[in-house]
Amino acid sequence: MNTALLFNGQIVSAEEYKPEKHGHRLFCIDKNCKVPLIFVARGEREAHFKTTGKADSKHVSGCGFYEPLGVLQAIKKVAEYQEDLLKKGVKETVIRVNLNKLDPDYEPKGIERNPKEDTEEDRVEIKPKNENKQPGTITSVKTVAKLLTSYEPDLLASILLSIGGGRKVPLSSLIVDHVTAHKMLWSESAINTGYFVYGTISKVTRLEKVIYIDFEKIDDIGFTLVVFEKYFKYFTLKDKDLVGFDVLVYGMLKKNEHKGKNSTEFLIKSNKYIEKIRKL
Ligand SMILES: [Zn+2]
Repeated sequence: MNTALLFNGQIVSAEEYKPEKHGHRLFCIDKNCKVPLIFVARGEREAHFKTTGKADSKHVSGCGFYEPLGVLQAIKKVAEYQEDLLKKGVKETVIRVNLNKLDPDYEPKGIERNPKEDTEEDRVEIKPKNENKQPGTITSVKTVAKLLTSYEPDLLASILLSIGGGRKVPLSSLIVDHVTAHKMLWSESAINTGYFVYGTISKVTRLEKVIYIDFEKIDDIGFTLVVFEKYFKYFTLKDKDLVGFDVLVYGMLKKNEHKGKNSTEFLIKSNKYIEKIRKL
């Protein structure tokens, strides 16, 4: 763990921790866990906090540190921790988001600023300890899924995504379930940027000029991915690759009003917009 809760309710990162200043009572940050932790000074690994495994120093089931998390669990835990951690001043890590290459219509203008990205497409390295290193860049939906399963949730919760125009937003505010995405869009609280939306695919409808991919409704709220004929050549996923899967999808939220009913869509152009994260 990168962070610990102090006896006074403050949160400290392992890097900043000083026993004389912060005291010796350290606890797990998960509000349902809060078991005692110990500090491990920098050695082969960076400085960190951990449970001892003895007596009550064991994470409880349901704690974000109890076992390695899957993508969905990680998203939920990051959302749970993020506001608190950022509010308490945990050091932020900025990662750039550049998904231009997902779009088959995208034509790079001139020389790409960071040609290395081509070879590191599916890898994001977080280097919060070394400010001089270039922060990672998210260049695919797969990178996001990998990021979520490669790091502990407190570290993920310190991440801000840089979405262009100097704007930086917490990771958990851009990765949302389809119901949240729909509500944000229709209450005008969504920001004008791409979102990563997750849900379960329940149905695929293939028509001559369009494919509709529907998410399973929750509270009567659905979500639809739309692929137009022009992009069929880039969208080759079969029904069996889609139906029944939990997916993470990237896109710009789009309103659709039909027969007085509001729904929300993503227009997608290729397989790359969808990352399967689990089969039910
Ligand atoms: Zn815990």
